[in-house]
Amino acid sequence: MAKYCYYMDMSKINTIVVSGGTHGNELTGVRLVSKWQNNPECYNNLCPSAKVDLVLANPEAVRLNRRYVDHDLNRAFSKVCLETSEDSKLYEFRRAKELNALYGSFCGKKNVDPKVDLLLDIHNTGSNMGMCLILSDRDPFAMRASATLAQEFNNVRIYLQPEERSQSPYFGTIARADICIEIGPQHHGTLNALIFEDSEKLVKRCLELVEEWNRGELQKRSPIKVDVYTQYQDIGYPKPQGFFGTTAISAMIHPDLYGMDFCRLEDGDNLFRTFDGKDIQYHGKSPVYPIFISEPAYYEKDIAMSLTTKTEELW
Ligand SMILES: [Zn+2]
Repeated sequence: MAKYCYYMDMSKINTIVVSGGTHGNELTGVRLVSKWQNNPECYNNLCPSAKVDLVLANPEAVRLNRRYVDHDLNRAFSKVCLETSEDSKLYEFRRAKELNALYGSFCGKKNVDPKVDLLLDIHNTGSNMGMCLILSDRDPFAMRASATLAQEFNNVRIYLQPEERSQSPYFGTIARADICIEIGPQHHGTLNALIFEDSEKLVKRCLELVEEWNRGELQKRSPIKVDVYTQYQDIGYPKPQGFFGTTAISAMIHPDLYGMDFCRLEDGDNLFRTFDGKDIQYHGKSPVYPIFISEPAYYEKDIAMSLTTKTEELW
């Protein structure tokens, strides 16, 4: 059932940050930001009404070609992490405070009069996610832009992960609005030319859409029907009772499900297969649409996949 939404928010987007390397081994964003830093003509005419900044968010991890040095940077931006007065020994907690001072709030608090209106954070995933736009809330620009991108590009999907902005640990949430762009499948620490080129086109188009928004045009276009995948629940790997950590995993993603991100999963469908060949079925809310299936970086977080629900909406 379609949901209608009307919005009159005309507030202009004056400052944009395009970031890569929040995870140091997700190389599409790393190389896109580096390319644009060396060739400003790639982006600086796309949105003349706003100031566009580029940043490599975790330069130490980029140097090491690792996800992070001491702690996942994209889990270090909650209010609690940013507002603690203690100086952490861990690099990413210090870096998160630096980034908040640059692009978030002058006072070091979270979300108090943010300096940046829109943050586009470019990530890769090993999962078969296509070009996935992650929205942290129902920001009017982010919704309109995502719907337009979903209409214009093959393989764009919208994943809504609503969270109270101050509690959210994600980099994008220090800005007034954000879109996290997750592109895959791509092995971490590697590049794929087609993924790079598609990602560059997508980010460029996003900057043009800001320009259309600032001219008041994007707000006027007819709503677009989109599938919205909303976070429902993360699922961990099966483990013997009382055991923790990646080495304790007792089953793998089932072959029926592997690579099937955004496909329908119903109660009773195969979910995992044990190392001695036994199938484990899914039992729960149905239908759901699993994403981030077997994402390599989530083994340490004990996430085998995230389940979403799907709705059709007019954005
Ligand atoms: Zn990432």
